[in-house]
Amino acid sequence: MVETSLASGDVLEPVRQHPRDPSYDVDVGPGWRQLVFECHQVVVAEFPEYELLAVKQKWGALAFQAFPRPWKPGGNWTDAEQSRLHAVTDAFADRSEGICERCAAEGSLRESRRVHLVLCDRYSFVRADLAAEAAAAARKAELREAAQVPARAGHITAPTDP
Ligand SMILES: [Zn+2]
Repeated sequence: MVETSLASGDVLEPVRQHPRDPSYDVDVGPGWRQLVFECHQVVVAEFPEYELLAVKQKWGALAFQAFPRPWKPGGNWTDAEQSRLHAVTDAFADRSEGICERCAAEGSLRESRRVHLVLCDRYSFVRADLAAEAAAAARKAELREAAQVPARAGHITAPTDP
């Protein structure tokens, strides 16, 4: 697997000039970084001082969460500006639904997962294999434990989270 770094000098550097919290970093997979950068470009063209709250995956889609301007008590932007910003970020959320968050290939939402992710076929299969292996390993461990511990009346083993 390719190691990706969010170190400085990458495509997300301009996005990092706008955080509300300076310690915050973008939290999406490598396949969406270009999309995040493009969203930033559209937003910053209209709102040069926009304030970034978070960039993450929510319900399988890209959530680019920002204010039109640095927040101030009493408000620092109009409803129209906020609507406009949301229209832009919603459009990028729609686009993200067709892009694999791992590798940027054409993807689709995989709702069978416990966590919804947009993935291409390749990563979906890879991850399904890993999940199956993990489940098999957990099952083996459970059986081993059951064999070692004498049965107790009323004892129920709850399935553990993989
Ligand atoms: Zn992929």
